[in-house]
Amino acid sequence: TKPRVVLLGLGAMGAALGRAWLAAGYPVTVWNRTAARAEPLRALGADVAGTAAEAVAAGPLVVTCLLDDASVEEALAGADLHGRDLVDLTTGTPDQADARAAWAQNRGARFLSGGVMAVPPMVGVPEAGGYVFYGGSRAVFDRHRSALAAPLGVHFAGARPGAAALYDIALLSAMNGMLAGITHAFALVRGEEMPLKEFAGLLTSWLSAMASAADTMAEQIDSGDYTRDVVSNLAMQVSGNRTLAAAARERGVDFRLLAPYSELLAERLAQGFADEDGTGALELLVERS
Ligand code: NDP
Repeated sequence: TKPRVVLLGLGAMGAALGRAWLAAGYPVTVWNRTAARAEPLRALGADVAGTAAEAVAAGPLVVTCLLDDASVEEALAGADLHGRDLVDLTTGTPDQADARAAWAQNRGARFLSGGVMAVPPMVGVPEAGGYVFYGGSRAVFDRHRSALAAPLGVHFAGARPGAAALYDIALLSAMNGMLAGITHAFALVRGEEMPLKEFAGLLTSWLSAMASAADTMAEQIDSGDYTRDVVSNLAMQVSGNRTLAAAARERGVDFRLLAPYSELLAERLAQGFADEDGTGALELLVERS
């Protein structure tokens, strides 16, 4: 028999998780601040608790998926967490996750923090490739691994609770850079002959091919040698970026999404690192204590 999952928070993500656990045959107890949002889950077989405290009392595995870290504290304020395994899938910063872990431990709970790398339609659909980074108690992760793996894939990121949030945020940050680049590219080509759908296909394959740069960059960062396996030296890249900026001007497109990265590379070049790859610019980002 499958263990009960207690789920607090039935927003878009929480509701999707609840449906996936029910579909996988887990008994589920749900609670949501706005009670009406629990009714669709009740119709699918969930038990509905009237208060968060009542929900937490229903079973040892308690999953929170709320708006932000402050709402987790607010929701759990009156609940007895003693002996509970609290798995918090609410997005927060690494420091918030570490502090929430200490908070939970002070209340007698074991704590695992999760960073969800999926949107709700990917939940319960293994082919979609969504997963959750987990950080914190390895014992909680191992004990509930089957239940945790029912809605989404699982990836243990480290014993520090904040590790899950850190990797989550690192991936989202990289995605934002990519989306900025795509936005700029569409601004350049909009109105040209090639249908944008066709251009989108070219963009997707180009970005997929270029994404493997991450492997080389990881090796360069690990070795501390940014001149290793250089394909596009920094002097050439800075010159190329001037061409990108000039082309944007010609087309009447604001260069502001790409200007910060171009300026960073130019600053590194001005420090005398012409033979490096662009990876060395990372040194300008990281505060040194
Ligand atoms: P929604 O806005 O759909 O739902 C927010 C949930 O939080 C609701 O259940 C809401 O209750 C509850 N809530 C907000 N404030 C409080 C409070 N003070 N006390 C108790 N409950 C509260 O958000 P999502 O479900 O989409 O997101 C939930 C978490 O999942 C977020 O941390 C989000 O970053 C993360 N996530 C979401 C993704 C997505 O694509 N949706 C992707 C990856 C992560 P009520 O119904 O009463 O308002």
